[in-house]
Amino acid sequence: KKAVRLDKFLADAGAGTRSEVKKYIQKGKVQVNGVPVKKPEIKVSEEDEIILDGNRISKASEFVYYLLHKPAGYISATEDKRDRTVMELVPSDRKDMFPVGRLDKDTEGLLLITDDGALAHELLSPKKHVDKTYYAVTDGCMTKEDVQRFAEGLEIGEKKPTMPAKLEILSTRKVEETELEQYPSGWSSEIQLTIKEGKFHQVKRMTETVGKKVIYLKRISMGVLTLPDDLKKGECRQLTDEEEKKLK
Ligand code: URA
Repeated sequence: KKAVRLDKFLADAGAGTRSEVKKYIQKGKVQVNGVPVKKPEIKVSEEDEIILDGNRISKASEFVYYLLHKPAGYISATEDKRDRTVMELVPSDRKDMFPVGRLDKDTEGLLLITDDGALAHELLSPKKHVDKTYYAVTDGCMTKEDVQRFAEGLEIGEKKPTMPAKLEILSTRKVEETELEQYPSGWSSEIQLTIKEGKFHQVKRMTETVGKKVIYLKRISMGVLTLPDDLKKGECRQLTDEEEKKLK
């Protein structure tokens, strides 16, 4: 069996980032075959019994999965010449990680980052119709007629109209005088929208097609994954075992 450094073994198994697990080791929280060890560089393999804080850490999982609460201002790519990328917001304990799909630079919310290419393909394949739900604030008043049009499918300049999308109007208000620069129409709606595709700028283009404009956009779920309430903007965490199971 392949031997790897203890800190790498623990980080790969999801026990923490490389620097976090080093600290655990140095504090004496890790035992290998019943003996506390304080050196992160010792070599271990799956045959060794590795215990952190009383919990057996079993084999290094094959892939890592991070749920990121993407803030505005970051590009959903592994590299960019000008801008910061979402990769700066996740631990770099693995190479070959990438964001699963894209959120626009100004879009916030749930983004999965992994090194599992097959899973990414499953989630992104246009044939799979994985639901993506967004919360948005618009300039302009969204109407019952828009709900109907979104449900029927819209012509947004693609070969085919969009697939049926579920639009819910959460609230509509007349904006204050001081907000007219941001909301020139004088009205604003909060909406929740679920789409089954992932066309370029899809939510913004659908909204423009009905004569309104997206001012704020946040993804709140993708397939079985939902943005956790306690995950702050810019923070990430690994998927729980339960989330990982649901995903596969
Ligand atoms: N639709 C958009 O217009 N932008 C996003 O970032 C995601 C969906």
